[in-house]
Amino acid sequence: MSKSEELFNQAKEVIPGAVNSPVRAFNGVGGTPVFVEKANGAYFTDVDGKDYVDYVGSWGPMIHGHNHSAIREAVVKASLNGLSFGAPTEIELVMARKVCEMIPSMDQVRMVSSGTEATMSAIRLARGYTGKDKLIKFEGCYHGHADCLLVKAGSGALTLGEPTSPGVPADFAKHTLTAEFNNLDSVRELLEANPNDVATIIVEPIAGNMNCIPPVAGFLEGLRTLCDEHGAVLIFDEVMCGFRVGPGSAQALYNVEPDLTTLGKILGGGMPVGAFGGKKAIMQHLAPAGPVYQAGTLSGNPIAMNAGLASLNLLAIQNYLKPLYDYTERLVRGLQELADKHKVPFTTNHVGSMFGLFFTEEKQVTRFSQVVNSNQERFKQFFHGMLNAGIYLAPSAFEAGFVSAAHDDDTLEKTLTAADSVFSEL
Ligand code: PMP
Repeated sequence: MSKSEELFNQAKEVIPGAVNSPVRAFNGVGGTPVFVEKANGAYFTDVDGKDYVDYVGSWGPMIHGHNHSAIREAVVKASLNGLSFGAPTEIELVMARKVCEMIPSMDQVRMVSSGTEATMSAIRLARGYTGKDKLIKFEGCYHGHADCLLVKAGSGALTLGEPTSPGVPADFAKHTLTAEFNNLDSVRELLEANPNDVATIIVEPIAGNMNCIPPVAGFLEGLRTLCDEHGAVLIFDEVMCGFRVGPGSAQALYNVEPDLTTLGKILGGGMPVGAFGGKKAIMQHLAPAGPVYQAGTLSGNPIAMNAGLASLNLLAIQNYLKPLYDYTERLVRGLQELADKHKVPFTTNHVGSMFGLFFTEEKQVTRFSQVVNSNQERFKQFFHGMLNAGIYLAPSAFEAGFVSAAHDDDTLEKTLTAADSVFSEL
């Protein structure tokens, strides 16, 4: 028995499902999850000593590669001054300025400790600001596990077949309306059916929790217009795509300004950090400036802020992201060529350094229904073949993949060599 199997069996005794976050348990693909010992650059090493090229990157934060020296040194240095104070610090000011400078739609920002807290708080703020209750989200989008957002959700909720979680009272869920991603008519219908009731529309501008689906032309612009027409707050949940598709995030890439933005992952450089922010007129409703309550013992934690600042500073290096984008293009092109060579129905999506792989006959995937109808069995076989060959993809057909600054020609070659052999056996 491998050490991963041993640990997995033991962990099941004391941790529900053996993991602290569901999708890690390989429920989407079967088998035993790999227990990680350490990670460096584009690789991690499991407890059995095997190395993997990692395309998960801790589910997004590790855009600089694992164990980056600048981030590690920032953490070590900050820790010498104490771990948490629960009182204001200068680094919080520096970090807030940095975020607002990189994302100009954000006049003000509040730090929290996870993406879930960021979206939950942004929604409360939108409701408090507008005095309305309902929210519109999109099927297959995931915004963390707050009650009102676990309705037709993506990511692990979808992987486990529980997109609407038990434990969410129907009385709460009734305020959550669900539209189809990339379908403006479905949004318009909901707004018209609920006049003056919709506080906010929350969207992943690039959907990354139902595999990877970029917005079709006009979709984000259309949401902006509909929010303006109906007095709703537009929230871009950029927890995943924020900083990954450009220093200004998806809103800069598509040139659409939301009212509020939620951030996480890369923002913390691997430490637990989330944030929400936006127009000052809205943010001023937040306690203690205003009446909408939100708080956190460890919010703006000095170690996490220093790690996050180091992470954002790296992104400011000129042309830093270009090699990641090039790599991602070469990766998806290479995989497509190999799938075609072995006559496996397959297509890909990618934006910046995030990508999605679909085992489907369809040439282009833009809708949630196409994702759920893609061939899950093929994906599982591909995943395990790649894992065996030392290539670690997200263990679910409903998650985007990520490239880091540490991926290079060598990792690309290893990946494509493995894929050639795995495709040939599908
Ligand atoms: N929003 C999006 C778009 C996400 O991808 C995630 C996590 N994958 C979250 C929110 C929740 O973040 P966290 O897991 O840090 O609570």
